Amino acid sequence: FTVQVETLPEGTDLPQAALLLFVDLTAVRRSEQMRVDFVANVSHELRTPLSTLMGFIETLQGPARDDDDARDRFLEIMRLQSLRMSRLVNDLLSLSRIETNEHSAPTRKIELKPILEGVKATLDLEARRKDMRVALDIDDGLPPVFGESDELTQVLQNLMDNAIKYGRSGTIIEVAAGPAEKVPAAYPGKRDGAIAVRVRDRGDGIDAGHIPRLTERFYRVDTARSRELGGTGLGLAIVKHIVGRHRGALTIESIRGEGTTVTVFLPKAPANGGNAESAVKPD
Ligand code: ADP
Repeated sequence: FTVQVETLPEGTDLPQAALLLFVDLTAVRRSEQMRVDFVANVSHELRTPLSTLMGFIETLQGPARDDDDARDRFLEIMRLQSLRMSRLVNDLLSLSRIETNEHSAPTRKIELKPILEGVKATLDLEARRKDMRVALDIDDGLPPVFGESDELTQVLQNLMDNAIKYGRSGTIIEVAAGPAEKVPAAYPGKRDGAIAVRVRDRGDGIDAGHIPRLTERFYRVDTARSRELGGTGLGLAIVKHIVGRHRGALTIESIRGEGTTVTVFLPKAPANGGNAESAVKPD
């Protein structure tokens, strides 16, 4: 708290009085601290690949100048480090774009089926590389949702990508979409009009203590493992923001040793006609 005491200026005709103002700065301080942490995290994430790049460039200009073998190896490392920086910058741009639009819910009606199929097609190769398979189970007659196609593509891509990254090789990733049987308490829309999209993997799972923090920027259970797998630590933060803008909700359930299920709840749009504005407004 800050307490401010104001007195009336000398010489006024008004009776002397004092105004006590109590201002709760907890939220302001917290958001300031979050911004400071965020900048520190971004700088740290960029500094590591940058110094690796610098190191290899200097080696290639000096001691390894005439070593063909070393040059090829070093260039490959430099390519991977550049890729890591570019992933990070892309994720940061996505986050800032979403934050800019956060206050307006999408009003366009879109079908989830082509999005799910598109994301599966994009990630099939990556899944096969790990001897995994993505199985889609989309309800017949799945109603459209109010949404932004690019953003929901990103949500599903991040979730399926995590399922592949952290899943176990030789397993199947089940992706199902249909009317939600039950919505979480945090779901802001109409309770009987939600669509649930569920991504379930058979990986190592996550300890319960970590789950509430997974959607924080740069929060990772195992930073080294996430980096090694090409993670930026921003995937679930992006998912959370997009789902929030869609006036939806997100749940993460996990059992250690069995796997993780992430479910996204989105507001259903009427199949024919319907007013988007009124239908997405929270109750
Ligand atoms: P990252 O780029 O590190 O994958 P995310 O924001 O997507 O970042 O996820 C944050 C962390 O949550 C990950 O680093 C990982 O520790 C954990 N995580 C996310 N999805 C899964 C999953 N399906 N199985 C196990 N752990 C997961």
